[in-house]
This record gives sequence, structure tokens and C-alpha cells, in this order.
Amino acid sequence: MSKVLLITGGGRGIGAATARLAAAEGYGLCLNYQHNREAAEALAQELRAQTRAITVQADVALEPDVSRLFETVDRELGQLTALVNNAGIVEIQSRLEDMSAERLQRVFDTNILGSFLCAREAVRRMSTKNGGSGGAIVNVSSAASRIGSPGEYIDYAASKGAVDSLTLGLSKEVALEGIRVNAVRPGFIYTEIHARGGEPNRVERVKELVPMKRGGTAEEVAEAILWLLSDKASYITGALLDVAGGR
Ligand code: NAP
Repeated sequence: MSKVLLITGGGRGIGAATARLAAAEGYGLCLNYQHNREAAEALAQELRAQTRAITVQADVALEPDVSRLFETVDRELGQLTALVNNAGIVEIQSRLEDMSAERLQRVFDTNILGSFLCAREAVRRMSTKNGGSGGAIVNVSSAASRIGSPGEYIDYAASKGAVDSLTLGLSKEVALEGIRVNAVRPGFIYTEIHARGGEPNRVERVKELVPMKRGGTAEEVAEAILWLLSDKASYITGALLDVAGGR
């Protein structure tokens, strides 16, 4: 059976690195994006030399968008076999006492609700209980879930705590239905997410906190994701795999 992978936020950063490795392994690919159509389309164009690749705009925090996203995959790529729940945001670094309810809602909606809705749609399609043929889900959590990100974004850290719990619970819920559910927890990775937090060079500032004394690359995270998706990880479910240089 051909492998079909949906990557939320697949046009840039860790999602894009994951797409490149997955294309080399023959996955049919759906690259979801929210705003940056140009990045997603350019990547898809590059990957079409190796595999089938489509792009779909959708905000993972909106249920109708998520339904349309998965229905497009059904129609254009066929039976979904893998999901990487990668889309995620931080907001400007701040202390809890300065966080508005609107900000908290945005972070929780994208990082938590988005991950739950996409996992739900994947299970509806993959579960052998529902007539599917199984599959694998990898949630992109963060080392922040166990560190807490004080003074920067404890809202983000807490949202990733929820992603960890989603991984633990769902992995057990569907273990007998042909679906493995795991998470990676990246540390400080060189991507554009830090600019959104207001500090583009954050990794350079904080890398001394890492036992390996360096930031990681999106490709290093992608390698862990691809391995968890693969049959090489066939007896692994409910794992929270730190990709954080020892931090
Ligand atoms: P990034 O370069 O900022 O990319 C984020 C991606 O998510 C973009 O493709 C963006 O789409 C997409 N996205 C954001 N909100 C979305 C929404 N509502 N609906 C659909 N797509 C949405 O970030 P990254 O560093 O690669 O982060 C990827 C994941 O890794 C996130 O979950 C992040 O929390 C996690 N992570 C990152 C680090 C790190 O140090 N970089 C560490 C730990 C965990 P557009 O391209 O359309 O904007």
C-alpha cells in the first residue's frame, strides 16, 4: 500500500525538513500551511520530482478548515497512513501577568485544539475499527512541556504539556486499532519560530544551557519523526522522544 503523509505546517521549518525526508522515502505528501502559500508551494514543486505532493491552506484551529484539509487528502492522495501534527505557534515573550486572554486562546487553539482535531480526523480514517488499515501519528511537542519556559511563554509550554498527554492517552486508546501515536520534544532548533517570539537569535543566546552547547537543526528533528513513523519503530507507541541535545 502506498504511504500518504499529512504534515500540518509543512511549508517551513521542522515541517519542511520532515517533508524533504519523507519525499525521499516515497510518501505521498500533503503540505498544509496557514498563511505562507509561497513557501509551501515552492517546496511542493521541489518535491514533485520525487513524489506526489499537494499543498492545502487550512487553519488547524478551525474545525471546518480541518475537515476540508483531510477531505482534500482523501480525494487527491487516497488513504491517509501518517500524520505529523507539527503546526504550532509562540507569541511574544512575556510573563504570565502580562498575557491577555486573546493571546492564551490563540496559543491553545493552534497548539492544543489543532492537534486534537487533526488527530481525531486521522483516527477516523486509519483505525481498523473504522475500516482503515492503521497508521502512525507523530505529535511535535517541545522540551518546553517539562521545563515550563518561565519569563518567555509558559502558555506555549503548557500547550505542549497537553500535546504530551494527548500522545499518552491516544496511544493507549488506539493501540489495538493499528495506530501508533508518539511525540518528539525538540529543544532549541534553528527555525523562524523564534522571530515570532520576538527574538530571532534566541537559539544563540540560550544554547549554552544545552549540554551539547549547540542548537539543533530542523533536519535532526525530522530524522526522529521519520523514524517514529516508520516500521522500524513498530513496537513503539506512547513515547515522548526528546530531541534536545541532552537538555
Ligand atoms: P515555524 O518555522 O514557525 O513553522 C511553523 C509552521 O506552522 C508554519 O508552516 C506555519 O504555517 C504553521 N502554522 C502555524 N499556525 C498554523 C495554523 N493555525 N494552521 C496551520 N498551520 C499553522 O516553526 P517550527 O520551529 O518549524 O515549529 C514546528 C513545530 O515544532 C511547532 O509545533 C513548534 O512548537 C515545535 N517546536 C519548535 C522548536 C524550535 O526551537 N524551533 C522547539 C520545540 C518545538 P505558515 O508557513 O503558513 O505560516
